[in-house]
Amino acid sequence: MYLTKPEPNPPRLPAGPMAQAARVADAATADRMSPGTYVRLRRHKAGWSIPDLARAVAATPDDRQPLQDEFRAIEQSSSGIHRRRVAQMAELLDLDMAIYLALVGFAQNPSPDLPSPRICTGCGCTWDHACADKDGLCDFPDDKTDLCTACTHTEKD
Ligand SMILES: [Zn+2]
Ligand SMILES: [Zn+2]
Repeated sequence: MYLTKPEPNPPRLPAGPMAQAARVADAATADRMSPGTYVRLRRHKAGWSIPDLARAVAATPDDRQPLQDEFRAIEQSSSGIHRRRVAQMAELLDLDMAIYLALVGFAQNPSPDLPSPRICTGCGCTWDHACADKDGLCDFPDDKTDLCTACTHTEKD
C-alpha cells in the first residue's frame, strides 16, 4: 500500500480587502517619482541653478565643476542613493530627506504593501513641506490629481 505524499499547498494570493489594497498599491508603484526627479523639482521650486548650488556647497573653487557633475547625476538617477550630497542639498533647498530616502527605497525594492508618499508632480512639495501662496498652504485638490493647488494656480495664471 502506498501513501500519497500530500501536495504542498500552492501559494495563494490573499483574497478580499488585502488583494484590493495590493492592487491599489500596484497602481501607485507605476507612477512613483524617482528620487532624482524629486531632488530636481525641489531645486527648481527653491529657485537654485546647479552652478549656484555647486558654488554654495564647494569648499574650494576647484570643487565646483565636479559638484555640478555630481548634482546632475543625482537628478538623473532613478535609484542610486547619494545620502551625503543630498543631505547637503537639503540644507539649502526645502527638501525632505525622509522623502528622498523613501523614494530611493521604493526604487531599489518596490514593495507594493508600503504606502508611497504623496508628492506634487509640479514642485515636489509634500504634506509637511507644503507651498505657501496667497491662499495659505497648498493642498491636493482631489484624490486623483498629483498637482498641488499652488501649482494648479500657477498653471492657470
Ligand atoms: Zn506643487
Ligand atoms: Zn505645493
